[in-house]
Amino acid sequence: MIRARFAPSPTGYLHVGSARTALFNWLFVRSVGGRLVLRIEDTDQARNQHELIDNIIDALTWLGIDWDEGPFFQSERADRHRAAIAELVSQGRAYEDEGAIRFRVPDAGVTAWDDVIRGRVEFENVNLEDFVIQRSDGSPMFLLANVVDDLDMGITHIIRGEDMVNNVPKQLLLVDALGASHDDITYAHLPLLVDEGRRKLSKRFGDVAVEQYREKGYVAPALANYLALLGWGPPDEVEIRPMPEIIEQFRLEDVNKSSAFFDVQKLTHINGTYLREMSRESFAEAARPWGYDLSQVPPALQDLVRIRAHTLADVPSLIDWLFLEQPEIDPAAWEKIAKLPDTAPLLEETTAAYEDAPWEAAELHARLAEVGERRGLKLGKAQAPVRLAVMGRPVGPPLFESLEALGRERTLARLRKARASL
Ligand code: GLU
Repeated sequence: MIRARFAPSPTGYLHVGSARTALFNWLFVRSVGGRLVLRIEDTDQARNQHELIDNIIDALTWLGIDWDEGPFFQSERADRHRAAIAELVSQGRAYEDEGAIRFRVPDAGVTAWDDVIRGRVEFENVNLEDFVIQRSDGSPMFLLANVVDDLDMGITHIIRGEDMVNNVPKQLLLVDALGASHDDITYAHLPLLVDEGRRKLSKRFGDVAVEQYREKGYVAPALANYLALLGWGPPDEVEIRPMPEIIEQFRLEDVNKSSAFFDVQKLTHINGTYLREMSRESFAEAARPWGYDLSQVPPALQDLVRIRAHTLADVPSLIDWLFLEQPEIDPAAWEKIAKLPDTAPLLEETTAAYEDAPWEAAELHARLAEVGERRGLKLGKAQAPVRLAVMGRPVGPPLFESLEALGRERTLARLRKARASL
């Protein structure tokens, strides 16, 4: 039975790189019919940090990544780790050194493995020091605990970040010393995620937590789809697609080893695509935490908002004008418009033309076009002060559908108020 594991160390949030590791493990087991084990590697944590673990679980669940066994907690397995250390000592594979226990690395030879992603990797044993597996305070070291847990849990595939590569030779020596065969374990080290400056993704330079993207209005299927493309691409090159198709196309052998650029613009584009494809109902539901109930908005306008939003966080600026008593008018944009000699007459004439207009988008469009023409203005120019007066921003959903939704009385009141402010 194929068994992989996702083994995060709790850091208080789920890093997108870590989420990508979880996803690739999940894609792998789901594509080959294996099992996924979730193990929390919390040996270096102070006790009772369960909220740190909850947020990992919440973020995985939100992304749609499920597991078949666990969560297991490394901190609860210390006895097992100490037993393995005692066994290594009794076999002469490890020894005491000033209270700590060190593993005895062979003086000669090569430790090597065939990494699914990186190919053959070799380390000369002479370059490895006898490393500590138990601290002098009796606590087992992470490197040892990690190996013992993988063996005990029957892990066949270790898929994890490239930052673990240098630990592999030590871990392989431990695997063999513990009586297992490292040929039974397949290693795949995923390429690093980097930012636009080719730097390792770091919270000093931008958002790195799944939770941050969630709070910024990215939706889970879009983020999961995007994460799947970091270091891997489907053979047919169709990048935006439902997860079951990604599972079908996914092969660990196709992951490439060069670092993957975490491109927020591409993520945002993919997110916009997912939003557009949502039903009205689920979009309204998803947008609700952003403060506006779209189910109260005429359906045609809901669609226009959905088509324009790149993230759910765009929703307020696209629709607040409909809910507010008066829109908040962008002061810089208004200052420019207010200076133009046409603005006052245009607002007055539009108000007059709208007082008796049949209240529907096409008619409102025709009447404003007419007012504009009389003053020698193209429609775009004629729209600008009306849009600002009514919606508060120079860009947003189409003007006339918006006016139709807002209704005559509210539209006229806003036009008059803007005129009076000149
Ligand atoms: N717990 C390690 C980490 O979060 C990963 C260890 C592993 O996957 O083997 O960096």
